[in-house]
Amino acid sequence: MRAAQKPKFSPTRINTYLECAVKYKYVYIDKIGRFYQKPRAGYSLGTSLHKVLADFYGDGARQSPEELKASLVKNWVSAGYESSDQESESLEAGSEMMLTYHTAESKHKENRLETVGLEKTFNYDMGRFILTGRIDRLDRLLDGSMEIVDYKSGRLDVTEDEVYNDLAMCCYQLLIARLYPDVPVKSTIYCLRTGNFASATLPESDLLIFEQRVRAICTEILDRDLTKATQDRMDICDTCDFLSICTRIWAKQAKQSENNV
Ligand code: SF4
Repeated sequence: MRAAQKPKFSPTRINTYLECAVKYKYVYIDKIGRFYQKPRAGYSLGTSLHKVLADFYGDGARQSPEELKASLVKNWVSAGYESSDQESESLEAGSEMMLTYHTAESKHKENRLETVGLEKTFNYDMGRFILTGRIDRLDRLLDGSMEIVDYKSGRLDVTEDEVYNDLAMCCYQLLIARLYPDVPVKSTIYCLRTGNFASATLPESDLLIFEQRVRAICTEILDRDLTKATQDRMDICDTCDFLSICTRIWAKQAKQSENNV
């Protein structure tokens, strides 16, 4: 008999829970996300650019700017656009981003010894569960340290504090720090629209605190009966794909309370 697999928690999964326990239940327990979560143009552009950059580095970062543009067309994800005009504008913007990136790459590669991971999933066994994370790019630098690079296609700017406090970046840093215990690790968020980027490193003392926090959140999720989770309406509900379900539930609850008066 095969041993039961440990539950896996990714930054997205943890963030979903922190955002709304009811949403977490819909996505990870009821598994009804595919019926409600709509494709979005922004996600599609991000997916396309990530594929282009994975191919670029997978090929030794030798492609010319024109090849990078052609790669974007080849890897283009069309889902979620409201019109062909919107899609064309997005393709144009994506091409510009790749040209800018190509120019900046010649500067970034000065410190890089090698790329050791592209769109790669890393796991860390934390006892009752596995912390997992898919890293856009992991480089080994000339000074022997490691750099985690996360591309953002929607952001224009980022600060060191934002990288330091970003849950996903902290998860990635924890994963790599535990996998390569004696190697200094930094995380970088790279804004593809502008070429702006910022890096941060969590010292071991902060990583330990973060690790405890992750353990506490994931243990809470595992121990809580989420089938009974409820949530009043909040600001983020306005853009949530599950609003129609929750609206029906709230209406039913309001009617029940009226009947009980
Ligand atoms: S609509 Fe609001 S309460 Fe319902 S799942 Fe979405 S965020 Fe949560």
